[in-house]
Amino acid sequence: RDDLRGREPYGAPQLDVPYALNTNENPYPPSEALVKAVGEAVMDVAGSLNRYPDRDAVALRDDLAAFLNRDTPGAGLTGRQVWAANGSNEIIQQILQAFGGPGRTALGFEPSYSMHPIITGVSGTRWIDAHRDEDFGLAPERAVAAVAEHRPDVVFLTSPNNPTGTALPLEAIEAVLAAAPGMVVVDEAYAEFRREGTPSALTLLPGNPRLIVTRTMSKAFAMAGTRLGYLAADPAVIDALLLVRLPYHLSAVTQAVARTAVAHEAELLGSVDVLRRERDDLVAWLRAQGLTVADSDANFVLFGRFADRRGVWRSMLDRGVLIREVGPPEWLRVSVGTPGEMAAFRTALKESL
Ligand code: PLP
Repeated sequence: RDDLRGREPYGAPQLDVPYALNTNENPYPPSEALVKAVGEAVMDVAGSLNRYPDRDAVALRDDLAAFLNRDTPGAGLTGRQVWAANGSNEIIQQILQAFGGPGRTALGFEPSYSMHPIITGVSGTRWIDAHRDEDFGLAPERAVAAVAEHRPDVVFLTSPNNPTGTALPLEAIEAVLAAAPGMVVVDEAYAEFRREGTPSALTLLPGNPRLIVTRTMSKAFAMAGTRLGYLAADPAVIDALLLVRLPYHLSAVTQAVARTAVAHEAELLGSVDVLRRERDDLVAWLRAQGLTVADSDANFVLFGRFADRRGVWRSMLDRGVLIREVGPPEWLRVSVGTPGEMAAFRTALKESL
């Protein structure tokens, strides 16, 4: 497959270590009350598992629209503008199946989320590498020039970006939307962690039928195991996705658990402020060690620069701390954990430098 030549399969190591800080999960497990509520929700559907689930996940999509309207006042979304799938990875796959394909192209700005080019290749779409600025930002005029040169069918913008943590100003997104001939996807997997004053691309949805904003329950919502990703877009986009999705793609159990999660939003998102503070402390601490650190609006931090990145990563692992070798060659990424996990990370890093 030419579209996948030279690509590695997704491969974040899943190792049994004391401190797993490599996949940007929320480190706080569900409370006892939430575990009980999830159990009850599963019991409620268990008696009718002989039947297919609601193929269109209508109740869940209404709940998610209401959540997004609370997250971004003024978004004014209804369930008709929201779509859900098994993780935002499946959401991205469906977008590419609908709007990409052989003879079409998708463009992204590296370094960014590694699955965008991989899923693009899987769908037979040709990937075009464009680049972020030196500081991992994206100056609107550079972004517009790349889009104008290649005229891709799909543009990926990730904000806050993985693995750099950088959020994009709305002007950059608006400029790309104005220049792009096709769909513009803003992957907001880490949106809930953004710093004050960084607006979500959801505010741009009204009047922009080519904009798709993707979100996930895997990060701030602390529900990575549930596999629930979603998007907000014009209803015509969702009509296109209905053609490519597999029938009954979201199980009754997934829908029930995800609805329970939204109903417990206050508890689940309660950890976001704690994690943001922990992140800001971590950035300050890493800088105090004399390291180069990217600004972060997410629940992870990219830091460097190491001539022997593999050596530092390995030394951390030997001390029970699993971080991620990702992004440009001299950088490492650490997910924000609990205070105990961060203390272990700091000790191990000092010993490894
Ligand atoms: N988008 C970005 C930017 C991510 O970092 C991730 C996961 O790390 C995803 C999407 C996929 O998340 P999920 O499929 O768990 O919703």
